[in-house]
Amino acid sequence: MGYEAIIGLEVHAQLLTKTKIFCSCSTEFGAPPNTHTCPVCLGMPGVLPVLNRKVVEYTIRMALATNCTIARESRFARKNYFYPDLPKGYQISQYELPIAEYGHIFIWANQERKRVGITRIHMEEDAGKLIHDPYRPISFVDFNRTGVPLIEIVSEPDIRTPEEAGAYLRQLRAILRYLEICDGNMEEGSFRCDANVSVRHAGVETFGTRTELKNMNSFRHVENALAHEIRRQEAIIEDGGEVAQETRLWDADKGVTLPMRGKEEAHDYRYFPDPDLLPIVIDEGWVEKIRGTLPELPDDKKARFIEEYGLPPYDAQVLTSSRPLADYFETCVKHFQEPKTVSNWVMGSILATLKAENKTIEEAPVSPERLAELLRLIDSGVISGKIAKRVFDEMVSSGKPPEMIVQEKGLVQVTDASAIAEVVKQVLAEHEKEVSDYKAGKTKLFGFFVGQVMKATRGKANPKIVNEILRQMLEE
Ligand SMILES: [Zn+2]
Repeated sequence: MGYEAIIGLEVHAQLLTKTKIFCSCSTEFGAPPNTHTCPVCLGMPGVLPVLNRKVVEYTIRMALATNCTIARESRFARKNYFYPDLPKGYQISQYELPIAEYGHIFIWANQERKRVGITRIHMEEDAGKLIHDPYRPISFVDFNRTGVPLIEIVSEPDIRTPEEAGAYLRQLRAILRYLEICDGNMEEGSFRCDANVSVRHAGVETFGTRTELKNMNSFRHVENALAHEIRRQEAIIEDGGEVAQETRLWDADKGVTLPMRGKEEAHDYRYFPDPDLLPIVIDEGWVEKIRGTLPELPDDKKARFIEEYGLPPYDAQVLTSSRPLADYFETCVKHFQEPKTVSNWVMGSILATLKAENKTIEEAPVSPERLAELLRLIDSGVISGKIAKRVFDEMVSSGKPPEMIVQEKGLVQVTDASAIAEVVKQVLAEHEKEVSDYKAGKTKLFGFFVGQVMKATRGKANPKIVNEILRQMLEE
């Protein structure tokens, strides 16, 4: 009997506000420890938090983009626990009355479009950071991060495979980046994910006991950790055992999940409404104003790319994975109106170059206008597709425009039929044996002759004319 995994994801996204959620300290990353602190975010007695309006605005943006219902009135609650990176002894979060609920997004996994429900989105503050001395039994604490605004996005248990989990996270991150409210950097911790996972026999209604996975700081970690944890739980059930409800840590080096602690329940935190903060009452007019500022979102953009440019869904998915990449593509298409050709070059040469040079699309060494110039040179027959790759590499290394490179290096395509005929004649004369083999029926040799002609012209002969002339002469 087969098994089915049930996966729900909790994502913490750090909002790109200039200041913290309840005080005016800077949220800038990388400052010397404990320089972005004040009595409020250090949890001194007698201080009062003041809510940052931008945090609410950004949360509403995300809520609208994920089709959530926005609560007219929501509340902050205190989540009580002790940890040295939490000076107040509680975290201000939201509990019974979150700002947004009942949303959904669409993901693409295994060539299928799938709806994944969003249970809730709520606002909360981040904790500080502990730094453990590797040589002495002491730890340091940095409170710069204390009070940095986060939103927690909780999914419904609609996800069934590690691939779907990866697709969901990528889509969620793309939406946050399109909205320009989170940089989505997993390595720096501004986009973090915990996963709840259980397995059950296929066809059974009730859920199995779930474990919570932590410490996954890349998409690949999440997918690998889930795949491992699903196999682990299946093996336990197969042996007649019972899965323990617990929190487990992903060890990326060993490729296993390890038990960390028993999973705490909500009542362990003694939640109660924060008496220092008023309920958040949201005006409908404000929500509509924010809705009016939303950009075209990844899913809509993808649908438009398929419709308007006739691109295959895969191309549209890749090109709309980030706003700047989609903009790059569209700018290039404006100057060279063959979308599929542009898509091939952007997904091929451009993305490969960015990966090799570890650059973002904003730092692309070839601008979309220049790429369009190169494509026009191919289209008008000035250079062949093969030579174009050489010109492209030269554009990347020298930064020169394609036309200049073609002139300087003498790469203009030879389209003069009589000049090509001369070369073909010469090649055939040099390969008498192959010619007679060809005429005896070894027609596969045709490609060999084409190769020889291209070699003799250093790739500059127009391949179509070469083919025609070769065929003619060999038929003679
Ligand atoms: Zn502060």
